Amino acid sequence: MFEKSALARVLLLLVVAAGVSFSAQAEQPLHKGQAPGYFRTKVGALEVTSLYDGAGAFQVDWLKGKPAAVEEIGSAAKDNPHFLDGNEAGFLINTGTKLVLVDVGAGPWFGGSAFGHLGESLRQAGYKPEQIDMVLVTHLHSDHVGGLTSKSGERQFPNAQIYVAQAESDFWLSKETAARAPSDAKPFFDAAQAIAAPYIKAGKWHTFQPNEKILDAMTIVPLPAHTPGHSGYQSNPKETRSSSGATPSIPSMLSFPTPTWRQYLTLTWKEPLHSGRSCSRPLLGRTS
Ligand SMILES: [Zn+2]
Repeated sequence: MFEKSALARVLLLLVVAAGVSFSAQAEQPLHKGQAPGYFRTKVGALEVTSLYDGAGAFQVDWLKGKPAAVEEIGSAAKDNPHFLDGNEAGFLINTGTKLVLVDVGAGPWFGGSAFGHLGESLRQAGYKPEQIDMVLVTHLHSDHVGGLTSKSGERQFPNAQIYVAQAESDFWLSKETAARAPSDAKPFFDAAQAIAAPYIKAGKWHTFQPNEKILDAMTIVPLPAHTPGHSGYQSNPKETRSSSGATPSIPSMLSFPTPTWRQYLTLTWKEPLHSGRSCSRPLLGRTS
């Protein structure tokens, strides 16, 4: 018995050694590609597919706040070059009766070729844009909604109804507010208005109040701070306690070691509604 097992071990070693020797001599062409950009999981009764849009590094000079705190974050970024890395993602939620997207990535409106890959990820996950019934928008920064519309004004999700908080829509689609915005904020207004326009024209742009119910499976979580109508979407407690939306694009930021650092996620200028609160705290509190 012992001898047989020892012989098997020797044979195994010989096979492994032969394999190593063989593979070391064979040509190894580069793959040049990555795995498809999606991850599927079950969240209670819902199937949630995370869709990769792109990745980039956050710039310290985008942060608004007390100079000492911004400087502290800057020096942490020097110590760890990946400290401010971030990625963009959207979430496809299959409720069983509807296909719902939470955010759609940057499309051609933000970040150049580094972003705008959510459409490919969606296809890799087995869906077509025409199949999407609803898009729930966290906020109207172009890195989250740019994927809705091409630069020539075509709807990329032709059958989808778009849902966004009334306060968010009112703010970014207001010509008056856009006119008094600082120059570095103006592109966000221009983009939001161009992205929304074809859906408004088609009667597919809908606004909601924070306590409204727009979908049986999901509850709106108001998160005003980063933008006036920033919203998260939480699956209903009877199904699960997990949440989605609102924070997926900024995972490194959520790793800031102190709550006071997290407040510098607020990127907009000092409008009354931009109080500097962490946009993520309400959701983190519910999910921790
Ligand atoms: Zn934003």
